[in-house]
Amino acid sequence: MFYNTVMRPHPIRSRIAPTPSGYIHLGNAVNFLITWALVRSQGGELLLRIDDMDPARTRPEYVEEIFRSLEWLGIGWDHGPSGVEDFYRNFSIQTRKEYYRNELKTFQKTTDRLYACTCSRKEILSLNTHGIYPGTCRTLNHTLAPEHSALRVMVPELTNIVVDKTVVSLDKTLGDFVLWRRDDTPSYQFASLIDDRDGQIDTVVRGDDLRNSTAAQLYLAWLFDIPSFLNARFIHHPLMMYNGQRKLSKSEGDQSIKTLRESGANKALVFNHAVTFLKAWQGIPEVPALLELLDNRR
Ligand SMILES: [Zn+2]
Repeated sequence: MFYNTVMRPHPIRSRIAPTPSGYIHLGNAVNFLITWALVRSQGGELLLRIDDMDPARTRPEYVEEIFRSLEWLGIGWDHGPSGVEDFYRNFSIQTRKEYYRNELKTFQKTTDRLYACTCSRKEILSLNTHGIYPGTCRTLNHTLAPEHSALRVMVPELTNIVVDKTVVSLDKTLGDFVLWRRDDTPSYQFASLIDDRDGQIDTVVRGDDLRNSTAAQLYLAWLFDIPSFLNARFIHHPLMMYNGQRKLSKSEGDQSIKTLRESGANKALVFNHAVTFLKAWQGIPEVPALLELLDNRR
């Protein structure tokens, strides 16, 4: 077991990382406002990163909408793409694939825990292990054939990782997870870690649904020796619920910021949601400072 510490000098560096697989919804916007307020209230720096890991679900109108929504909300950032064209030219993960591939090759030389996996999604599902890969290919020792295999990392039994005051048993929640996908793209876990390292991110604000991902990334950061990530502060907040029951979803089109804006709503409505959310949550000591800043800017 290892711990990540939360002592760091200011000013902080954080990021907002929308995924262009749908229109951003109220829950996403509240996460962005909390992150932005945390950074601005401490004179830190904010990065915008658009996580287009999944080309099949990414659409240009979703990318455009990210910029439009942020502008409408008055959320400014210090680093990252300035607009749609800049994003596609210089920041898209699809154009940076070779960079991630080379990084992975370098890490591969430092550990014997990475292995190629030729199992198809269907094969894994048929094993009935609740989506957790049982390590079938661990001992096959075949060389990596990029077109037909994924690259996984071994997660031994009892890999317990402390994430934001909670213990995650990574071997039981994710198992041997994927770093490079069968469709020849970097996985979310790997690309996100590399981007956070490169951006020198020291504060990450995420929904509770990404707690297991944080554990996976901390495990990789330990394996690959990335101290900036191991020493980062991770804040996980509850998810906003749709009618108090299920989590908001991009694919369901829940309360999209686009719809709110186009229906003539004022951005204060979104700020009010963030304020209500923070008051109910109270999960970090900075909440009063965030409330004051949100109150001034709405
Ligand atoms: Zn396999």
